[in-house]
Amino acid sequence: MKALHSLCIILGIFFCANSMKSQTIKNRDSIIESAVNDISVDNMKALIQDLVGFHNRNNLSSMTHPTQGIGATAEYLYQKVNTYIPSSNERLSVEKAFYTIGGPGTRLGREVTVCNVIATIQGSNPDDDRKIALLAHFDNRNGNGSDSIRYAPGANDDGSGVACLMEITRLLSRIDLPVTLKIMFLSGEEHGLYGAQYMANKAKQENWNLIAVLNNDMIGNGNASETNTHNNTMLRVFSENIPAIETDEMKRIRVYNSAENDSPSRQLARYIKETGERYVDNTTIKLIYRNDRFGRGGDHTPFSRKGYAAVRICEMHENYDRTHQYVREENGIRYGDEIEGIDFEYLRKNTGINLSSVANLALAPSVPENVRQEVSKLTNYSALRWDSPKQGKKPACYYVLIRETDQSQWQTKIRVEGTEARIPYSKDNYFYAVQSVDAEGHESLAVFATGGD
Ligand SMILES: [Zn+2]
Repeated sequence: MKALHSLCIILGIFFCANSMKSQTIKNRDSIIESAVNDISVDNMKALIQDLVGFHNRNNLSSMTHPTQGIGATAEYLYQKVNTYIPSSNERLSVEKAFYTIGGPGTRLGREVTVCNVIATIQGSNPDDDRKIALLAHFDNRNGNGSDSIRYAPGANDDGSGVACLMEITRLLSRIDLPVTLKIMFLSGEEHGLYGAQYMANKAKQENWNLIAVLNNDMIGNGNASETNTHNNTMLRVFSENIPAIETDEMKRIRVYNSAENDSPSRQLARYIKETGERYVDNTTIKLIYRNDRFGRGGDHTPFSRKGYAAVRICEMHENYDRTHQYVREENGIRYGDEIEGIDFEYLRKNTGINLSSVANLALAPSVPENVRQEVSKLTNYSALRWDSPKQGKKPACYYVLIRETDQSQWQTKIRVEGTEARIPYSKDNYFYAVQSVDAEGHESLAVFATGGD
Protein backbone atom coordinates (compact mmCIF):
# COMPACT_ATOMS: atom_id res chain seq x y z
CA MET A 1 0.00 0.00 0.00
CA LYS A 2 2.80 2.40 0.92
CA ALA A 3 4.62 1.72 -2.31
CA LEU A 4 1.42 2.35 -4.23
CA HIS A 5 0.90 5.63 -2.43
CA SER A 6 4.43 6.74 -3.20
CA LEU A 7 3.90 5.89 -6.84
CA CYS A 8 0.70 7.92 -6.89
CA ILE A 9 2.57 10.86 -5.46
CA ILE A 10 5.38 10.64 -7.96
CA LEU A 11 2.90 10.34 -10.81
CA GLY A 12 0.80 13.11 -9.32
CA ILE A 13 3.65 15.57 -9.16
CA PHE A 14 4.90 14.65 -12.61
CA PHE A 15 1.53 14.99 -14.27
CA CYS A 16 0.55 18.06 -12.32
CA ALA A 17 3.62 19.80 -13.62
CA ASN A 18 3.14 18.62 -17.18
CA SER A 19 -0.52 18.11 -17.90
CA MET A 20 -3.92 18.63 -16.36
CA LYS A 21 -5.10 15.39 -17.94
CA SER A 22 -3.32 13.11 -15.49
CA GLN A 23 -4.39 9.57 -14.75
CA THR A 24 -5.79 8.98 -11.32
CA ILE A 25 -5.73 5.75 -9.33
CA LYS A 26 -8.91 4.93 -7.42
CA ASN A 27 -7.85 3.27 -4.17
CA ARG A 28 -11.13 1.97 -2.78
CA ASP A 29 -11.52 0.52 0.70
CA SER A 30 -13.30 -2.81 0.19
CA ILE A 31 -15.57 -2.29 3.22
CA ILE A 32 -16.80 1.07 1.96
CA GLU A 33 -17.06 -0.21 -1.58
CA SER A 34 -19.22 -3.16 -0.58
CA ALA A 35 -21.50 -0.90 1.51
CA VAL A 36 -21.96 1.36 -1.53
CA ASN A 37 -22.74 -1.74 -3.63
CA ASP A 38 -25.35 -2.84 -1.06
CA ILE A 39 -27.45 0.34 -1.38
CA SER A 40 -30.93 -0.91 -2.19
CA VAL A 41 -33.11 0.93 -4.67
CA ASP A 42 -36.02 -1.28 -3.57
CA ASN A 43 -35.61 -0.11 0.03
CA MET A 44 -35.55 3.53 -0.99
CA LYS A 45 -38.53 3.11 -3.29
CA ALA A 46 -40.56 1.44 -0.53
CA LEU A 47 -39.60 4.14 1.97
CA ILE A 48 -40.61 7.00 -0.30
CA GLN A 49 -43.89 5.24 -1.13
CA ASP A 50 -44.57 4.98 2.61
CA LEU A 51 -43.71 8.67 3.15
CA VAL A 52 -46.04 9.70 0.32
CA GLY A 53 -48.72 7.53 1.98
CA PHE A 54 -48.83 9.86 4.99
CA HIS A 55 -50.75 12.22 2.67
CA ASN A 56 -49.48 15.53 4.10
CA ARG A 57 -46.41 16.05 6.29
CA ASN A 58 -46.88 19.77 6.91
CA ASN A 59 -45.63 21.01 10.28
CA LEU A 60 -49.25 22.04 10.96
CA SER A 61 -50.61 18.56 10.23
CA SER A 62 -51.70 16.10 12.91
CA MET A 63 -49.20 14.88 15.49
CA THR A 64 -51.66 12.25 16.75
CA HIS A 65 -53.43 10.71 13.72
CA PRO A 66 -52.26 7.10 13.38
CA THR A 67 -51.76 6.99 9.61
CA GLN A 68 -51.62 10.57 8.31
CA GLY A 69 -49.62 13.70 9.07
CA ILE A 70 -46.26 14.59 10.52
CA GLY A 71 -46.71 12.72 13.82
CA ALA A 72 -47.38 9.41 12.09
CA THR A 73 -44.40 10.05 9.80
CA ALA A 74 -42.08 10.64 12.76
CA GLU A 75 -43.30 7.43 14.42
CA TYR A 76 -42.74 5.51 11.17
CA LEU A 77 -39.15 6.76 10.86
CA TYR A 78 -38.52 6.01 14.53
CA GLN A 79 -39.79 2.44 14.09
CA LYS A 80 -37.87 1.97 10.84
CA VAL A 81 -34.56 2.88 12.50
CA ASN A 82 -35.49 0.47 15.32
CA THR A 83 -35.59 -2.42 12.85
CA TYR A 84 -31.86 -1.93 12.17
CA ILE A 85 -30.80 -2.01 15.83
CA PRO A 86 -30.46 -5.84 16.11
CA SER A 87 -27.83 -5.95 13.35
CA SER A 88 -25.87 -3.00 14.77
CA ASN A 89 -23.98 -4.72 17.59
CA GLU A 90 -25.82 -2.36 19.98
CA ARG A 91 -24.24 0.72 18.45
CA LEU A 92 -27.43 2.10 16.86
CA SER A 93 -30.04 3.95 18.93
CA VAL A 94 -32.88 6.31 18.06
CA GLU A 95 -34.81 9.03 19.85
CA LYS A 96 -37.49 11.60 19.19
CA ALA A 97 -36.51 15.15 20.10
CA PHE A 98 -39.62 17.29 20.65
CA TYR A 99 -39.61 21.07 20.40
CA THR A 100 -42.21 23.84 20.24
CA ILE A 101 -42.27 26.48 17.52
CA GLY A 102 -44.48 29.13 15.96
CA GLY A 103 -47.24 31.17 17.51
CA PRO A 104 -49.43 34.06 16.33
CA GLY A 105 -47.62 36.31 13.85
CA THR A 106 -45.19 33.61 12.67
CA ARG A 107 -45.25 31.68 9.38
CA LEU A 108 -46.89 28.84 11.26
CA GLY A 109 -49.65 31.11 12.60
CA ARG A 110 -50.01 29.10 15.80
CA GLU A 111 -47.82 27.24 18.24
CA VAL A 112 -47.05 23.60 17.43
CA THR A 113 -44.97 20.90 19.06
CA VAL A 114 -43.20 18.67 16.53
CA CYS A 115 -40.19 16.38 16.72
CA ASN A 116 -36.98 15.38 15.00
CA VAL A 117 -36.04 11.71 14.80
CA ILE A 118 -32.36 11.29 15.61
CA ALA A 119 -30.51 8.05 14.90
CA THR A 120 -27.11 7.71 16.57
CA ILE A 121 -24.49 5.22 15.41
CA GLN A 122 -22.09 5.24 18.33
CA GLY A 123 -18.41 5.42 17.44
CA SER A 124 -16.35 2.41 18.52
CA ASN A 125 -13.37 4.38 19.87
CA PRO A 126 -14.12 5.74 23.39
CA ASP A 127 -11.07 8.03 23.08
CA ASP A 128 -12.50 9.75 20.02
CA ASP A 129 -15.34 12.24 20.56
CA ARG A 130 -15.75 13.31 16.92
CA LYS A 131 -19.22 13.37 15.39
CA ILE A 132 -20.48 13.63 11.82
CA ALA A 133 -24.06 14.72 11.05
CA LEU A 134 -26.25 13.81 8.09
CA LEU A 135 -29.44 15.85 7.67
CA ALA A 136 -32.68 15.52 5.70
CA HIS A 137 -36.13 16.92 6.45
CA PHE A 138 -39.30 14.84 6.55
CA ASP A 139 -41.79 17.71 6.81
CA ASN A 140 -43.16 18.96 3.50
CA ARG A 141 -45.68 21.27 1.82
CA ASN A 142 -47.84 21.62 -1.26
CA GLY A 143 -48.76 24.82 -3.11
CA ASN A 144 -49.74 26.54 0.14
CA GLY A 145 -47.35 26.43 3.08
CA SER A 146 -50.23 26.54 5.57
CA ASP A 147 -52.28 23.75 3.97
CA SER A 148 -52.12 20.71 6.23
CA ILE A 149 -55.14 19.00 4.66
CA ARG A 150 -54.75 18.54 0.90
CA TYR A 151 -52.39 16.00 -0.64
CA ALA A 152 -48.67 16.83 -0.45
CA PRO A 153 -46.57 13.81 -1.52
CA GLY A 154 -43.10 15.31 -0.99
CA ALA A 155 -41.40 12.39 -2.74
CA ASN A 156 -38.31 14.35 -3.73
CA ASP A 157 -38.52 17.26 -1.26
CA ASP A 158 -37.34 15.73 0.87
CA GLY A 159 -38.38 12.11 0.65
CA SER A 160 -35.24 11.56 -1.42
CA GLY A 161 -32.97 12.86 1.35
CA VAL A 162 -34.82 10.84 4.00
CA ALA A 163 -34.50 7.64 1.92
CA CYS A 164 -30.76 8.30 1.47
CA LEU A 165 -30.25 8.74 5.21
CA MET A 166 -32.29 5.63 6.08
CA GLU A 167 -30.19 3.46 3.75
CA ILE A 168 -27.03 4.91 5.28
CA THR A 169 -28.41 4.16 8.76
CA ARG A 170 -29.02 0.54 7.71
CA LEU A 171 -25.62 0.04 6.07
CA LEU A 172 -23.27 2.01 8.33
CA SER A 173 -24.80 0.74 11.59
CA ARG A 174 -23.34 -2.67 10.64
CA ILE A 175 -19.80 -1.31 10.21
CA ASP A 176 -17.33 -0.56 12.95
CA LEU A 177 -16.56 3.16 12.73
CA PRO A 178 -14.49 5.00 15.36
CA VAL A 179 -16.49 8.24 14.94
CA THR A 180 -20.12 8.75 16.03
CA LEU A 181 -22.70 9.42 13.30
CA LYS A 182 -25.74 11.58 14.05
CA ILE A 183 -28.35 10.88 11.39
CA MET A 184 -30.98 13.58 11.71
CA PHE A 185 -34.46 13.24 10.25
CA LEU A 186 -35.66 16.79 10.74
CA SER A 187 -39.01 18.55 10.90
CA GLY A 188 -39.69 22.30 10.82
CA GLU A 189 -37.68 22.96 7.63
CA GLU A 190 -40.44 24.35 5.43
CA HIS A 191 -41.45 26.95 8.02
CA GLY A 192 -37.98 28.26 8.83
CA LEU A 193 -35.35 25.51 9.44
CA TYR A 194 -36.61 25.06 12.99
CA GLY A 195 -35.66 21.40 13.41
CA ALA A 196 -32.09 22.06 12.26
CA GLN A 197 -31.89 25.16 14.44
CA TYR A 198 -32.93 23.07 17.44
CA MET A 199 -30.22 20.50 16.73
CA ALA A 200 -27.51 23.08 15.97
CA ASN A 201 -28.27 24.78 19.31
CA LYS A 202 -28.11 21.41 21.06
CA ALA A 203 -24.77 20.58 19.42
CA LYS A 204 -23.33 23.92 20.54
CA GLN A 205 -24.74 23.76 24.07
CA GLU A 206 -23.44 20.22 24.54
CA ASN A 207 -20.09 21.15 23.01
CA TRP A 208 -20.15 18.43 20.34
CA ASN A 209 -16.93 17.89 18.42
CA LEU A 210 -18.94 18.00 15.19
CA ILE A 211 -16.49 17.85 12.29
CA ALA A 212 -18.87 17.76 9.31
CA VAL A 213 -22.53 18.35 8.48
CA LEU A 214 -23.99 17.02 5.21
CA ASN A 215 -27.50 18.25 4.42
CA ASN A 216 -29.32 16.32 1.71
CA ASP A 217 -32.33 18.18 0.38
CA MET A 218 -33.75 17.14 -3.01
CA ILE A 219 -31.31 14.60 -4.46
CA GLY A 220 -33.58 12.44 -6.64
CA ASN A 221 -34.87 14.54 -9.51
CA GLY A 222 -33.00 14.40 -12.81
CA ASN A 223 -35.23 16.62 -14.98
CA ALA A 224 -35.22 20.41 -15.11
CA SER A 225 -38.50 22.25 -15.61
CA GLU A 226 -38.64 24.77 -18.52
CA THR A 227 -35.38 23.72 -20.20
CA ASN A 228 -36.19 19.97 -20.10
CA THR A 229 -32.54 19.32 -19.33
CA HIS A 230 -31.98 15.78 -18.14
CA ASN A 231 -29.02 15.05 -15.94
CA ASN A 232 -28.48 12.17 -13.55
CA THR A 233 -24.69 12.19 -13.63
CA MET A 234 -24.01 15.42 -11.75
CA LEU A 235 -24.69 16.46 -8.17
CA ARG A 236 -24.27 19.88 -6.59
CA VAL A 237 -22.53 20.55 -3.28
CA PHE A 238 -23.08 24.09 -1.96
CA SER A 239 -20.61 25.53 0.55
CA GLU A 240 -20.14 28.97 2.06
CA ASN A 241 -17.22 31.11 0.85
CA ILE A 242 -16.45 33.03 4.00
CA PRO A 243 -17.58 31.50 7.29
CA ALA A 244 -20.83 33.02 8.55
CA ILE A 245 -19.26 33.32 12.00
CA GLU A 246 -16.09 35.10 10.87
CA THR A 247 -14.68 37.37 13.56
CA ASP A 248 -12.35 40.34 12.95
CA GLU A 249 -9.38 38.16 13.88
CA MET A 250 -10.49 35.40 11.50
CA LYS A 251 -10.92 38.01 8.78
CA ARG A 252 -7.40 39.34 9.34
CA ILE A 253 -5.92 35.84 8.95
CA ARG A 254 -8.07 35.11 5.89
CA VAL A 255 -7.06 38.31 4.11
CA TYR A 256 -3.38 37.87 4.93
CA ASN A 257 -3.40 34.32 3.54
CA SER A 258 -5.75 34.94 0.60
CA ALA A 259 -7.96 32.19 1.98
CA GLU A 260 -11.26 33.40 0.53
CA ASN A 261 -11.80 30.04 -1.17
CA ASP A 262 -10.72 27.86 1.73
CA SER A 263 -13.35 27.90 4.46
CA PRO A 264 -13.75 24.65 6.44
CA SER A 265 -17.09 24.12 4.67
CA ARG A 266 -15.29 24.44 1.31
CA GLN A 267 -12.73 21.82 2.40
CA LEU A 268 -15.63 19.52 3.29
CA ALA A 269 -17.19 20.12 -0.14
CA ARG A 270 -13.89 19.27 -1.88
CA TYR A 271 -13.59 16.15 0.28
CA ILE A 272 -17.05 14.96 -0.78
CA LYS A 273 -16.15 15.55 -4.42
CA GLU A 274 -12.94 13.55 -4.21
CA THR A 275 -14.34 10.71 -2.13
CA GLY A 276 -17.73 10.49 -3.85
CA GLU A 277 -16.18 10.35 -7.31
CA ARG A 278 -13.74 7.69 -6.07
CA TYR A 279 -16.50 5.34 -4.95
CA VAL A 280 -19.40 6.08 -7.30
CA ASP A 281 -18.97 5.55 -11.02
CA ASN A 282 -20.59 7.66 -13.72
CA THR A 283 -20.95 10.72 -11.54
CA THR A 284 -19.42 14.18 -11.31
CA ILE A 285 -19.78 16.39 -8.26
CA LYS A 286 -20.20 20.05 -9.06
CA LEU A 287 -19.00 22.35 -6.31
CA ILE A 288 -21.18 25.45 -6.10
CA TYR A 289 -19.33 28.29 -4.43
CA ARG A 290 -22.27 29.78 -2.56
CA ASN A 291 -23.98 28.74 0.66
CA ASP A 292 -27.30 27.95 -1.00
CA ARG A 293 -29.54 28.88 -3.90
CA PHE A 294 -30.84 32.45 -4.30
CA GLY A 295 -33.69 33.26 -1.97
CA ARG A 296 -33.95 29.77 -0.52
CA GLY A 297 -32.61 28.07 2.57
CA GLY A 298 -31.53 24.71 3.84
CA ASP A 299 -30.93 22.90 7.11
CA HIS A 300 -27.13 23.14 6.86
CA THR A 301 -27.29 26.90 7.46
CA PRO A 302 -28.16 26.87 11.19
CA PHE A 303 -25.09 24.64 11.60
CA SER A 304 -22.74 26.83 9.55
CA ARG A 305 -23.97 29.83 11.58
CA LYS A 306 -22.78 28.02 14.69
CA GLY A 307 -19.33 27.60 13.13
CA TYR A 308 -19.56 24.01 11.89
CA ALA A 309 -18.32 22.88 8.47
CA ALA A 310 -21.66 22.33 6.71
CA VAL A 311 -22.75 21.81 3.11
CA ARG A 312 -25.95 21.40 1.13
CA ILE A 313 -26.09 18.46 -1.27
CA CYS A 314 -28.69 18.92 -4.02
CA GLU A 315 -29.63 17.62 -7.46
CA MET A 316 -28.05 19.33 -10.48
CA HIS A 317 -31.32 20.68 -11.89
CA GLU A 318 -34.50 21.42 -10.00
CA ASN A 319 -37.99 20.86 -11.29
CA TYR A 320 -40.19 23.76 -10.20
CA ASP A 321 -43.27 22.06 -11.64
CA ARG A 322 -42.86 19.44 -8.96
CA THR A 323 -41.59 21.43 -5.96
CA HIS A 324 -44.12 23.02 -3.56
CA GLN A 325 -46.98 22.43 -6.00
CA TYR A 326 -50.46 20.99 -5.71
CA VAL A 327 -50.76 17.71 -7.60
CA ARG A 328 -52.64 18.49 -10.81
CA GLU A 329 -52.40 18.55 -14.57
CA GLU A 330 -52.52 21.81 -16.50
CA ASN A 331 -51.93 22.32 -20.23
CA GLY A 332 -50.39 18.86 -20.44
CA ILE A 333 -47.92 19.53 -17.62
CA ARG A 334 -47.94 17.32 -14.54
CA TYR A 335 -47.46 19.29 -11.33
CA GLY A 336 -46.66 18.02 -7.83
CA ASP A 337 -43.89 16.16 -6.02
CA GLU A 338 -44.95 12.61 -6.91
CA ILE A 339 -42.81 9.48 -6.76
CA GLU A 340 -42.89 9.25 -10.57
CA GLY A 341 -40.53 12.23 -10.57
CA ILE A 342 -37.75 10.33 -8.80
CA ASP A 343 -34.89 8.88 -10.82
CA PHE A 344 -33.90 6.02 -8.52
CA GLU A 345 -30.59 5.31 -10.22
CA TYR A 346 -29.66 8.95 -9.59
CA LEU A 347 -30.80 8.66 -5.97
CA ARG A 348 -28.77 5.45 -5.56
CA LYS A 349 -25.60 7.14 -6.80
CA ASN A 350 -26.16 10.21 -4.65
CA THR A 351 -26.65 8.00 -1.61
CA GLY A 352 -23.35 6.29 -2.45
CA ILE A 353 -21.61 9.66 -2.52
CA ASN A 354 -22.90 10.44 0.97
CA LEU A 355 -22.15 6.99 2.34
CA SER A 356 -18.60 6.82 1.03
CA SER A 357 -17.73 10.36 2.12
CA VAL A 358 -19.03 9.86 5.64
CA ALA A 359 -17.50 6.38 6.04
CA ASN A 360 -14.09 7.47 4.74
CA LEU A 361 -14.10 10.49 7.04
CA ALA A 362 -15.25 8.40 10.03
CA LEU A 363 -12.43 5.90 9.45
CA ALA A 364 -9.77 8.63 9.12
CA PRO A 365 -7.59 10.01 11.90
CA SER A 366 -8.31 13.48 13.31
CA VAL A 367 -7.07 16.50 11.38
CA PRO A 368 -3.51 17.71 11.89
CA GLU A 369 -3.29 20.64 14.31
CA ASN A 370 -1.60 24.05 13.96
CA VAL A 371 -0.93 23.68 10.24
CA ARG A 372 1.51 26.51 9.60
CA GLN A 373 3.45 27.83 6.68
CA GLU A 374 6.76 29.71 6.94
CA VAL A 375 6.22 33.00 5.12
CA SER A 376 8.79 35.39 6.60
CA LYS A 377 11.86 34.23 4.63
CA LEU A 378 12.64 35.16 1.03
CA THR A 379 12.87 31.70 -0.50
CA ASN A 380 11.62 29.80 -3.53
CA TYR A 381 10.76 26.86 -1.32
CA SER A 382 7.61 26.33 0.72
CA ALA A 383 8.05 25.14 4.29
CA LEU A 384 5.15 23.66 6.26
CA ARG A 385 4.83 22.15 9.70
CA TRP A 386 2.00 20.87 11.87
CA ASP A 387 1.27 18.89 15.02
CA SER A 388 -0.14 15.39 15.10
CA PRO A 389 -3.74 15.14 16.35
CA LYS A 390 -4.15 14.75 20.11
CA GLN A 391 -7.07 12.32 20.02
CA GLY A 392 -8.08 9.19 18.16
CA LYS A 393 -5.74 6.89 16.30
CA LYS A 394 -2.36 8.23 15.24
CA PRO A 395 -1.94 8.98 11.52
CA ALA A 396 0.34 6.68 9.54
CA CYS A 397 1.31 9.63 7.38
CA TYR A 398 0.08 12.99 6.08
CA TYR A 399 -0.79 14.33 2.66
CA VAL A 400 0.32 17.83 1.76
CA LEU A 401 -2.23 19.09 -0.78
CA ILE A 402 -1.13 21.62 -3.36
CA ARG A 403 -2.91 23.79 -5.88
CA GLU A 404 -2.13 26.86 -7.93
CA THR A 405 -3.85 29.99 -6.68
CA ASP A 406 -6.22 30.19 -9.65
CA GLN A 407 -7.32 26.56 -9.35
CA SER A 408 -10.45 25.37 -7.63
CA GLN A 409 -9.48 21.82 -6.68
CA TRP A 410 -6.41 20.46 -4.92
CA GLN A 411 -4.21 19.35 -7.81
CA THR A 412 -1.68 17.03 -6.26
CA LYS A 413 -0.63 15.51 -2.99
CA ILE A 414 2.68 14.64 -1.40
CA ARG A 415 2.96 11.87 1.14
CA VAL A 416 4.92 12.88 4.25
CA GLU A 417 5.90 10.64 7.18
CA GLY A 418 6.74 13.31 9.75
CA THR A 419 5.11 16.60 10.68
CA GLU A 420 6.93 18.97 8.35
CA ALA A 421 7.59 19.35 4.66
CA ARG A 422 9.94 21.46 2.53
CA ILE A 423 8.75 21.65 -1.05
CA PRO A 424 10.58 23.15 -4.04
CA TYR A 425 7.70 25.39 -5.06
CA SER A 426 7.49 29.07 -4.19
CA LYS A 427 5.20 29.78 -1.25
CA ASP A 428 3.86 32.75 -3.21
CA ASN A 429 2.55 30.69 -6.11
CA TYR A 430 0.60 27.89 -4.41
CA PHE A 431 -1.97 27.14 -1.75
CA TYR A 432 -1.31 24.30 0.68
CA ALA A 433 -3.30 22.15 3.06
CA VAL A 434 -2.53 19.04 5.12
CA GLN A 435 -4.58 15.88 5.76
CA SER A 436 -3.97 13.10 8.30
CA VAL A 437 -4.00 9.65 6.71
CA ASP A 438 -4.17 6.17 8.27
CA ALA A 439 -2.40 3.02 7.07
CA GLU A 440 -5.34 2.09 4.81
CA GLY A 441 -5.40 5.50 3.15
CA HIS A 442 -8.47 7.07 4.84
CA GLU A 443 -7.92 10.83 4.74
CA SER A 444 -9.10 13.43 7.25
CA LEU A 445 -10.51 16.75 6.09
CA ALA A 446 -7.86 19.11 4.77
CA VAL A 447 -6.59 21.94 6.98
CA PHE A 448 -5.54 25.04 5.06
CA ALA A 449 -1.99 26.15 5.86
CA THR A 450 -1.70 29.71 7.11
CA GLY A 451 1.31 31.90 7.68
CA GLY A 452 1.93 35.08 9.63
CA ASP A 453 1.25 35.49 13.30
ZN1 LIG B 1 -36.54 20.74 1.07
